[in-house]
Amino acid sequence: MPAIFLCLSWLGLLTDYPEAKTYLWFSFHAALTAACAVIHLRTRREKFSVEFLFSLVILIAGISAVLKIQWLQLSYFPLAIALAYLYPLRTTMQATSLFPVVGLKKSLASLVTLLINNTAFSSEFLVEETAFSVSLMLTALIAGIMADIKERKNRGLETGLKKIVDDAKGLTLDTDMETLRTDELSSHFFASASQADKEIMDLLSVTKKAVLADSVNLFVVRSDGLELRHTTEEKDIVVPQKGGIIAQCVREKKSLSSGDLQGKKLEAGYMKKNNLLISSVVAVPIREGATITGVLTADSSRYHAFSGLGDAGKTVEMLADQLAKILERRRISLEMKREMAGRKILTEGSSCLVTSLDIDELSEQICRVAEKIATSQTFFFLRHGRRFELRYCTGEAPEGKKLFDFGGTVVNFAIENKDKHYVSDLSQYPIRVMPFHTENIRSAMAIPMIYENKILGLLVMLSEEKDFLDAYQTNLLLIIRNQASISIANARLHAEIEEMATTDGLTGLLNHRRFQEKLSDEIKRLKRSGEPIALLLTDIDYFKKVNDTYGHPVGDFVLKGVSGIIRDTIRDIDIPARYGGEEFAVILPGTDGVGAANTAERLRKAVEEKSFSADGKTLKVTISIGISTAPGDATGQEELIDKADKALYHAKHNGRNQSVAWNTIR
Ligand code: GH3
Ligand code: MG
Ligand code: MG
Repeated sequence: MPAIFLCLSWLGLLTDYPEAKTYLWFSFHAALTAACAVIHLRTRREKFSVEFLFSLVILIAGISAVLKIQWLQLSYFPLAIALAYLYPLRTTMQATSLFPVVGLKKSLASLVTLLINNTAFSSEFLVEETAFSVSLMLTALIAGIMADIKERKNRGLETGLKKIVDDAKGLTLDTDMETLRTDELSSHFFASASQADKEIMDLLSVTKKAVLADSVNLFVVRSDGLELRHTTEEKDIVVPQKGGIIAQCVREKKSLSSGDLQGKKLEAGYMKKNNLLISSVVAVPIREGATITGVLTADSSRYHAFSGLGDAGKTVEMLADQLAKILERRRISLEMKREMAGRKILTEGSSCLVTSLDIDELSEQICRVAEKIATSQTFFFLRHGRRFELRYCTGEAPEGKKLFDFGGTVVNFAIENKDKHYVSDLSQYPIRVMPFHTENIRSAMAIPMIYENKILGLLVMLSEEKDFLDAYQTNLLLIIRNQASISIANARLHAEIEEMATTDGLTGLLNHRRFQEKLSDEIKRLKRSGEPIALLLTDIDYFKKVNDTYGHPVGDFVLKGVSGIIRDTIRDIDIPARYGGEEFAVILPGTDGVGAANTAERLRKAVEEKSFSADGKTLKVTISIGISTAPGDATGQEELIDKADKALYHAKHNGRNQSVAWNTIR
């Protein structure tokens, strides 16, 4: 419809309507132009319709005809240039070729005149009109070509962007990843993760070109603020600072921009060295689910360089989206790597824990595995009633002392609650961590070893760093704890059975079989190191009488008493044993004849002085002792025992209640 009315209006123009019926023609044409404008606005088309533009041209021609201002037609030129930027080259050329048609009447008139009169009349006018049309078309053509070049450049950029976007899409998790097998999945991930840096840099350069920024920067969120991860600037030029727009962007979880940082004295949140100014900035948060993992910024030294969060903001946001995918892929690949490393530690660690029944070996193994899971000082304690015995540690512990009471310490919370206790920042705790002095410890983890609801042991990990463990590491530790608790329980049971098989039930001393083994070990050691050993064989004097007079139970009681005296009289390294009946043996490692004689006498006197009370009666016993030494008296095990036995026999025959050394009886 508008096209028909336009033709009418145009015909009106050709037939001098603007001059003859000025009001009618102008009202009609103005209404037509307005209608074209309304149609354009209603259809929300980005570009003006050719009809509307042509109606404008006719309007100008009308005004020019009425007012007789020829040069008003010069306004066709800016119109042609505007067209060239808005429409493809072909449309522009078609539209501009219509412009001269508007003045067709005059051209036709001059042509007719020329033909009828066959004179040179008005050929000047025709030339003028043609030159006007040609230069108008030329202007449109040049403007069109320039617009085309710019468009192509933009399209190149767009293709670059699209490629990166497509690449990133191709690697998103929920498309082709699920179809891969686990091993392919991991190798795919690792390969793509190693490309991540390059991809991120490509993306930043594209963003920089797309929004005409001075630089584009990627900051990642760390516990203590934002850290620069990548930048299109030279290294070290961009320096993050506290606060500013980038921090606000993370806090408020939305894109922000400013075009007048200097004027408004706002902070970008980072600065550039070498006097590089930042006047405009667009900051876009990088999201992973609901969390903000970083900020992508584009900046410029020009004021109002990015028109707020307009097109530039949208471009940066779109690229931030892709960046988020790359970063997520990277994070997942790191998690997978960690998962694999964790599994390896667990497999290796637990295989060792399963095979060993030795508490010391287990204690060391638990500490080693814990250390691998999280770098720290590790301590392993075994429970003894209310106290804990330190069995292995990689950190500093007091010399000598092995039994500790954790009362009043941070670790005690774990013991009381029978559960792990982690303190990420000890500076908040007014109480000490361990029952002994520790230096510069910032965080601690205590994990009790629980079996059948009983605490068997305790693993303590200390670190000089704040918050040294995360949830994943804690999880690994708890898995190892379960394995270790079972192993410790097994080892303890094994130790108990072994003890039952090697100790004497009545006195708690080593039994005869174990005594022989121990003596054999000591003889071997003597042969290796040359360290002397001594052996004491004791026999209670007239013990039959004790039994006969007071009864067997009292005899047992006396036997226990004597074994206690022996234990209390000798050193820790000496080895007492129940040799048989009411006979005891003591191995004295590193002891020569003189030392052995002294010990024997001390022992004899201690028994002699002791009064045993049983059933309201008091009784005393004495012992006889035979002493032999190696390598002095004997070199082999049997010989050593034999000579001590002979010395004991001698003591008995010499009147009892005495100690006799074998080397004194010849
Ligand atoms: P002697 O001074 O010559 O050693 O005289 P004795 O009476 O001690 O003689 P002998 O060493 O031969 O006696 C050992 C006695 O010790 C025999 C046995 O009844 C007693 N006896 C051995 N084992 C035990 C035990 O486990 N409990 C009790 N109550 N008595 C025991
Ligand atoms: Mg005897
Ligand atoms: Mg006896």
